[in-house]
Amino acid sequence: MFKFETLFRSDRSRARLGRVHTAHGVIETPAFIFCGTKANVKGITVDQLEAAGTQIILSNTYHLMLQPGSETIKSAGGLHKFTGWNKPMFTDSGGFQVFSLGYGGVASEIKGSGQRGKKRTLLKITDDGAIFRSYVDGQLITLTPERSMQVQMDLGADIIVAFDECTPYHTNKFYTATAMEKNQCWGKRCLNILKEYGNGSQALLGVIHGGVYEDLRYESAMAANNEAYDGFAIGGSLGKTRREMWEIVNMTSSWLDRSRYVHLLGIGGIEDIFHGVQCGIDTFDCVAPTRMARHGAAIVKRKELRGDNGRINLNNTAFRGDMDPVSSDCDCYTCKNFTRAYIHHLLKAKEILAGTLLSIHNIRTMNQLMEDIRNSLAADNIAAAIAEWCGE
Ligand SMILES: [Zn+2]
Repeated sequence: MFKFETLFRSDRSRARLGRVHTAHGVIETPAFIFCGTKANVKGITVDQLEAAGTQIILSNTYHLMLQPGSETIKSAGGLHKFTGWNKPMFTDSGGFQVFSLGYGGVASEIKGSGQRGKKRTLLKITDDGAIFRSYVDGQLITLTPERSMQVQMDLGADIIVAFDECTPYHTNKFYTATAMEKNQCWGKRCLNILKEYGNGSQALLGVIHGGVYEDLRYESAMAANNEAYDGFAIGGSLGKTRREMWEIVNMTSSWLDRSRYVHLLGIGGIEDIFHGVQCGIDTFDCVAPTRMARHGAAIVKRKELRGDNGRINLNNTAFRGDMDPVSSDCDCYTCKNFTRAYIHHLLKAKEILAGTLLSIHNIRTMNQLMEDIRNSLAADNIAAAIAEWCGE
């Protein structure tokens, strides 16, 4: 039931317009996948998600296997029925959280920005999988490729990911190479499980590793090309700086089989998306748009910025008497009905509605960004969209 088709290829870069067909509908690509970590996008109903033009959301295998447990979700009829979201859905393999939480850091550690001194939950990594302690009830849990696939089959998302060890930035080349080879074996085991027990509706992505090392990235990409994955996810450490990340994404994507779908894991800055699209990335995911919203930040186009970090902070006193909408260009529920002054007030009064209204805006804005990118690609003029969003 899964099919990826390319509708248009740019002459100027590897950018492409595509269509991903799933059992729960079609995703027009390039597209953004919103994080519904624990089977919900925080503070947002599925109706609000849909009204903001959302095509696909992601849930985390790791969190759901700990709470409420994949058996509960399976008996509810799968994630779609459990959450009421009837459109395409994506689950990750659990590997990213097992290893990122386990190394004592958080997601940022994998991306290279350093330890944060959190308690280690990962106890042991073997050739078979990982043993870690549940943050919910302290239980010891073994996550193997087979277990990850079983959980992801219980959850029933349309696009799922092969179980992988996600190595952080500071690991050396030998360790990164060893983990990459192990991930290749784990990927094969995931493919076998899906072939044997799957219902034929789930697409499996192989994860491309190799950290910051060009030869390892090449080897990982080539090995994945030779497997029967429905698509690829570029994962692992993408370096310490934005430039380094762009270089790794550029070279890695250049080696992948162009007939298959490509996802970039955990990256969602506007400039990073423009760069990724030009490398041939089809989908992106990141917690930032909704996390930022809960902290009072609204994503806006270049002309509305008061600085150059891609967002305005509605906590700022400057917005206290500002009777304009968050963005004058935006057609979202929040911008059509409320002022910056109102949202500033809700934030100051610590009302949860502030996070909901800003999440609606940021979700709509990311969807608008991807629509603009798709429209600009159809005219093979992505520069026009870059000028509007980034001003470069
Ligand atoms: Zn808006």
